Parts: sequence; structure tokens; C-alpha cells
Amino acid sequence: MKILVPVKRVIDYNVKPRVKADGSGVDLANVKMSMNPFDEISVEEAIRLKEAGKAEEIVAVSVGPAKAQETLRTALAMGADRAILVQTDDEVEPLAVAKILKAIVEAEDPGLVILGKQAIDDDSNQTGQMLAALLGWGQGTFANTVEVGDGTIDVKREIDGGLQTVQLKLPAIVTTDLRLNEPRYASLPNIMKAKSKPLDQKTPADYGVDTAPRLTTSKVTEPPKREAGEILEDVDTLVAKLKEMGVA
Ligand code: AMP
Repeated sequence: MKILVPVKRVIDYNVKPRVKADGSGVDLANVKMSMNPFDEISVEEAIRLKEAGKAEEIVAVSVGPAKAQETLRTALAMGADRAILVQTDDEVEPLAVAKILKAIVEAEDPGLVILGKQAIDDDSNQTGQMLAALLGWGQGTFANTVEVGDGTIDVKREIDGGLQTVQLKLPAIVTTDLRLNEPRYASLPNIMKAKSKPLDQKTPADYGVDTAPRLTTSKVTEPPKREAGEILEDVDTLVAKLKEMGVA
């Protein structure tokens, strides 16, 4: 089985985002960018399935600027076999990404697509679900554990009340949650080896997909500043304070 793993280049999760002065978006100039953390979990899970003999090939794909090559090289250094960059400088919305992925699925014929549950830049949580709908495939979202059987995959999902297990017929779509695994670091020899692994370059037009935006961002604002806390000497003072504030 072949596994397709879409990986997005996003602002690094350790960076405190700065909003542009005109409120039109987040300022990405000179900001560290990395692979979306949920996508690292997807790459790790694909590698584990390959190591367990459940998959033969892992193809990483990214839709984004030329620099998204670095993100793909990270996936290759972790253990993906080859990569596809669908290059565009436009900001591509989830529906357009899902349409591009559908075209790649039709060309590559994978048995499984593992996406992150959400990209930490737009927090859309849409691409996996849209891809499943476009393909007419089953989806196991927010995966906590996956087990590949004979033509099926069991996905234990993280839901509000606990865990839910669904069984999907392959081919299928899985989106990863935080507790699925702990992604490995790429070793230096593997980073060197990744430089010679194949990386195809395409454009959205190669897949007949128009990436023109359908959404407009009205305004982006910083979250309100947290007010300073206060250390109280004992519980009685705390209770008195809470009463004063009208919450006790
Ligand atoms: P989102 O729906 O934007 O929250 O993204 C969910 C998942 O879809 C991500 O974790 C990625 O696996 C995939 N994805 C979204 N945008 C892209 C992109 N530009 N390139 C590759 N994968 C993407």
C-alpha cells in the first residue's frame, strides 16, 4: 500500500505571531517556518506503518511556495520516500488544497491519506474532511490510534466524551490528533540522504485547480493582553476576593 501524507509549511509553533499593522493578517517576514506539528505526526505514523510492513511507499506532498521544499525535505529526512511540491505563492484555502490532493490521489492511487487534523496557521480543520467528501472515501478524523487490517483500518478517535473506534474500508482518509505518536527527529545521515530523494515540482494548474480565494479576511487582531495575577496569603482572603468580584 502507498500512503500519501500532505504536509503544510506554517509559522513555527514556538513563534509568537505578530499581527500586521493594517490588521490584514499575520506578519510572516523573517519569521521561522516549520512543518505543521500535526503533519509531523502524520509522517511519523506513515513511517511506523511502513516499518510494520503495512505500507511500501510514503509520498509527501505540499502546496505552497518554493520554500515548502524545506518542509518536504524534512519529511524525506524523517523517512518519506519521495515528495511532490505543488508550487504557488498564493494563499491556498482548504477547498483548493483538497481539490489538488484529489487530483494527486487519482494519479498516485494511494491506499491511505494521512493528514493533520488542522493547520496551526489557519486552524481550519477542513482539508481532510473535504478531501474525503470529494473522493467519496471514508474518514477517521482526530486519530488517537490506528490499526491497519485486511482491507480495513480501525481508527480510535478522540471525541468529547472519550474515545470512539470506527472501522473504515480502505482506501480511506485519516486525520491525526496530538496523542497518536511522538514524531522522531531526523538524524544527520538521514538529512543528508534526503537531499538525493526525488522531489517532483508541479503547479495547481497542472491539476486543473483554480486557487483563487473564496473567502475574504475582514480583520485580524491580537488576543487581549492577560491581566497580571495576584498572590493572596490564605484561602479566606481568596474567598473574600471572589465574593467581592461576585463569583462566589
Ligand atoms: P486545515 O484544514 O487547513 O486545518 O489543514 C488540515 C491538514 O490538511 C493539514 O494538517 C495538512 O495535512 C493538510 N494541508 C492543509 N493545507 C495544506 C497545504 N497547503 N499543503 C499540504 N497539506 C496541507
